[in-house]
Amino acid sequence: MTARLLELSGIRAAHGGITVLHGIDLAVRAGQVVALLGPNGAGKTTTLKVAAGVHPPTGGRLLLGGRDATGMPPGDLARAGVCLIPEGRGVFPNLSVRDNLQMMTFTGRAREEIEETAYARFPALGTRRAQAAGTLSGGEQQMLALARGLATDPAVLLLDELSMGLAPLVVAGLYEHVAEIARQGVAVLVVEQFATAVLKLADHAAVLVRGRIRWQGHPDSSLHAELSSYYLGSPT
Ligand code: ATP
Repeated sequence: MTARLLELSGIRAAHGGITVLHGIDLAVRAGQVVALLGPNGAGKTTTLKVAAGVHPPTGGRLLLGGRDATGMPPGDLARAGVCLIPEGRGVFPNLSVRDNLQMMTFTGRAREEIEETAYARFPALGTRRAQAAGTLSGGEQQMLALARGLATDPAVLLLDELSMGLAPLVVAGLYEHVAEIARQGVAVLVVEQFATAVLKLADHAAVLVRGRIRWQGHPDSSLHAELSSYYLGSPT
């Protein structure tokens, strides 16, 4: 079995003094896609923010490649290979596709290399390289966000609601790319409210409800029944 690249152990976190994560245990191995599912306000985004160092935990430990990374600033975690693609796509709408990619040269990689890699993976971006990112379709914007993230050569990729506002066919296409990224050895943690698309490729799933993981395991048919009961707010 491959190494645990990312591990959250007993993670607690709060917003404005109110605890919203009550001890999260979650691990993602190299090459794995782990889906973190749950209804609105369950704490999914907060979990990703803790993993990226953007939100400080109030308890528990964050481990990166088995090493304690709790409290590490987000810049250090990014340099160590953690990449968060936030909800809402994380692209600069007024800049062209090319300029959005060019900004990633801060990583030390050459613009040509970043562009070539991005266009090879997402040919649609290549044909629209001079177009303002804000005029791309939602799916293409998400491709650009992924391409920008991949330019950092991440070991751990954190994706927040990749499917937000997109048609099912577009989402399915994006998740094929996510599966390919994982096959190349990246540990991928995906947050989604609606599970259908991600569960086709997830190796492991966890259901978060009101800041607690209520179920985790292999996403087999039993999960679908569990999900509907959690989302409908059945007794816990
Ligand atoms: P969603 O799908 O709505 O984004 P989520 O599962 O990602 O939900 P979080 O965004 O992590 O959930 O929010 C968890 C809890 O923390 C919610 O009760 C939310 O209202 C609260 N919360 C999140 N961000 C803040 C903030 N900046 N200030 C105060 N409370 C917050």
